[in-house]
Amino acid sequence: MHYWIDGQRHDFSSLLDNEIHALLKPFHHASTEHVFCACQRTDAPDTRLPMYIRQNRSTSLSLARVPRSGNEHHRSCRHFDIAAEDAARLGYDDSVLAVDEEGNQVVALSESLRNSAGATEPRASVVRLGPRAVPRRIYARMTPLGLLHLLWERAWLNRHVVGKVPELPDLVRRLRHAARQIRIRGLRSAHWGIEDFLLLQETPALSTARANFAKLKAAADKDKKVLALAVIEDAMHLARLVDARQRPTLRPLLGVTVRGGDVGRTFEDLLAPSFERALSLLHVGARLAVLALAGTRTYEGTPYAIVENVVATAITPAWIPIDSSREFEFTQLLVAQGRQFEKPLRYDAAESVFPDFVLEDTAQPVPIEIYGMGTLADYAARREKKRSIYQDAYPGRHWEWDVQQEGRLQEWLRRHPLPAAIPSRQRQ
Ligand SMILES: [Zn+2]
Repeated sequence: MHYWIDGQRHDFSSLLDNEIHALLKPFHHASTEHVFCACQRTDAPDTRLPMYIRQNRSTSLSLARVPRSGNEHHRSCRHFDIAAEDAARLGYDDSVLAVDEEGNQVVALSESLRNSAGATEPRASVVRLGPRAVPRRIYARMTPLGLLHLLWERAWLNRHVVGKVPELPDLVRRLRHAARQIRIRGLRSAHWGIEDFLLLQETPALSTARANFAKLKAAADKDKKVLALAVIEDAMHLARLVDARQRPTLRPLLGVTVRGGDVGRTFEDLLAPSFERALSLLHVGARLAVLALAGTRTYEGTPYAIVENVVATAITPAWIPIDSSREFEFTQLLVAQGRQFEKPLRYDAAESVFPDFVLEDTAQPVPIEIYGMGTLADYAARREKKRSIYQDAYPGRHWEWDVQQEGRLQEWLRRHPLPAAIPSRQRQ
């Protein structure tokens, strides 16, 4: 979390409460604006977002967003609050995503976290956004895949900033921080948001396995389910996630037992067919971020969990989510060239019109679209519609790779170079 305080940039996620208090104290009760959120909106990068300084019950000072400015922050900023219309564009009604006054994201999840509850279908209604718009399904609950995207986005893992591919402990630390600011509606007992019951990838540097054991035990004692987030490195790695009794298990990744119930099945079986595309991307060098929802049990005093639902998103070695092998190739190139960019995430809403990527190190952000090999008539129509949207919204500054015309990326780039990166002070 970065803020500008009197012209200086500070990272609050690395500061203790008393350090934040000391930084803010000189400006408490100041009449002019000194403190701004450092998030930058891709579509309005020059917007300045003032924050106000609030006195907490504990008498320490913290920052809160100015009322009704929630939808002006960047989508991955903790102060971002989605407007009803934007939520609908993502496929959700506005009750699914809300922000409480502490700046926590409050999510209505499609799955109950009580052990006794079975899986539920998210309730959907159909709405029309504007007189000529196509009616679309709006969900009143966020799916686990939507939650995985939300976590990824809040941990800033859908953005690449030059020279900063996070190592695994860094990834886990960021996810843990993001999880603390996401709460599940109707679950009051949570102290640290979903981090209370989110098992994270083991990394000895953070004693994650020990924390996972404590969370699993606490959940089993309260008859609650857990969530488990892990990164699978490649197809070989996925195939090896089987325990001595031939059941799929996440134990090697989490340090505690979270496994499938059936002998002879694999995680690949559990993920297919919904995540066939993500699975196929393992073979081009992608990794897999998986989020499992698992019911807890205790056997002779040891807690364990059985997976009920598992979702996946393909990610690159730089942790950037991708939807296709072309996106993988393109992302690898941007990272190798040291470009700064963002991958907008869909939160499990397949119908949304978002650019595939947004270049952020140019004078103004440049939306990027990769048109694949689709030959269906509705694919071509969708492509034309997207082109006209970009032409209107970003005249002369969107970039595309038309794979049908030229499948070799280097060859396409020779004829259609990417907009050049410029130093950050010259960006708008
Ligand atoms: Zn912000």
